Amino acid sequence: MPWRSTLSRNLRARSPPLPGELAATGSTPVAPRLDIDLDKIHHNACVLRQRLTQRGIAMTAVVKVTLGCPEIAATLLSAGVTTLADARIENIETLRRAGIAAPMTLIRSPMLSQVDRVVRHANTSLNTELDVIAALSRAARKAQLCHRIVLMVELGDLREGVLPADVPQILHRLLNLPNIEFAGIGTNLACRSGVVPDPHNMAELSALADLVDRELRRAGRPACALGSGGNSANLHWALRQADTGRINDLRVGEALMLGCDPMDRTPIGGLHTDAFTLIAEVIESGIKPSLPQGTIAQNAVGNTVVVKDRGPVQQAILAIGRQDTEPGDLQPPPGVRMLGASSDHLIVESDAPLQVGERVAFIPGYSALLRSMTSPFVSKRLQAQA
Ligand SMILES: *Cc1c(COP(=O)(O)O)cnc(C)c1O
Repeated sequence: MPWRSTLSRNLRARSPPLPGELAATGSTPVAPRLDIDLDKIHHNACVLRQRLTQRGIAMTAVVKVTLGCPEIAATLLSAGVTTLADARIENIETLRRAGIAAPMTLIRSPMLSQVDRVVRHANTSLNTELDVIAALSRAARKAQLCHRIVLMVELGDLREGVLPADVPQILHRLLNLPNIEFAGIGTNLACRSGVVPDPHNMAELSALADLVDRELRRAGRPACALGSGGNSANLHWALRQADTGRINDLRVGEALMLGCDPMDRTPIGGLHTDAFTLIAEVIESGIKPSLPQGTIAQNAVGNTVVVKDRGPVQQAILAIGRQDTEPGDLQPPPGVRMLGASSDHLIVESDAPLQVGERVAFIPGYSALLRSMTSPFVSKRLQAQA
C-alpha cells in the first residue's frame, strides 16, 4: 500500500519504552494482546475525513486512547489527517520522540505545572483559565515559541468551558499576552452529562464566533479562524445539518478508532468497528453448575450477584481481568456470554466447549480499549498488509 512508505518514514528509533509499550510487530503472538489493524484505521480516517470535508469541516484526529502509539498516528497522517490531538502531554511527547512532526493539540486544559512541556511539544491547547494562559504565555516567551489557544466555551454539558457571557472579557485579556496566538473557540458536549450536539447549541457556538469576530475587528486583529464544534458525538449533527454555521473543525477519536457513534454506540455506516480486537487465552474449561453454593456476600469487586439456576453450564476462565481491560465493555464472539470478572479472571459461558489454550477474540468498547492500551500486561500487535 502506498501509505506504508510514509509510515516507515515517520517511525524512527523510539526511546525509552513506557509501560505497556508496543510489542515488536511480527513477534510470537502472546495473550492477552490487542490486535490493531492499521488498514482499518486508515479506512475509517479516509471515510470520515471525506464526509466532513464535504461539509466544510476539518477533522482533528484525537489519539488519546492509543497511549501515544506512533504507528497509529502515522497511519492517520497518511490518510490525510493534518492535526493530531491528545489529552495528555506525555502521549504528545511520546509521538514527538518517535519523529511525528505534525501539528498537535492538547485537548485537556494544561496543568500549571506542565506549561513548559506544553509549549515545547504542543502547537495548540484548549483552555478555560486565564491564569493558565498567562503561564503558557510566560513559558512560550522563555522558549521563544508561539503557542495557539482555543478558548473553550461551556454550552450545557458542564465539563470544561468558560461561560458564554465571559468570552469578550477573557478574549481581551488573552489578546494582550505575548507569544500567544488566539486560534478560535470551541466547545465539548456529550462527555460528562451526555448533552447532545444539536442545531440549537451549535448555532450558539456560531453566534459566539461572530461575536468574537466583532471584538477582534475592533482590536484590529484577524478573524476567528477555528470553530471547534466538539467530538465524535457531533458527527450526527455535522453530516445531516444543512447549515453548519461557523463550525469548521471537529475533534474525532472514538468514531475513528471504533467506527461507532458514542451517543448510542451504534455502528457508523461504511466504517470498520473491529480495528481493535482483544485476545485472551482459556486457562480452565468444563461443565459447572450455574448456581453458586453457600451463603452469598459481596464478590471480589463489591457486587452482590444474584444468579438464576439454569442447571449445569459450559464454563471457561480466560486469563484476563480488570487489570487488563474493562470486562463489562467487551463484546464476546457469537456463542460466548460473559458471566463475571475479577482482577485477573474473566468467566464466560459458551455454547460449545472451549479448549484450554484456545484464544478468544473480543471487540473492546472505548473504556475497555483505553484500559487495555494502558495496561502493561496487554501486548499490542500492529497489523497492516505489506
Ligand atoms: C476525548 C475528547 C475528544 C474526542 O472525543 P471522541 O468521543 O473520542 O471523539 C474531543 N474533545 C475533547 C475535549 C476530548 O476530551
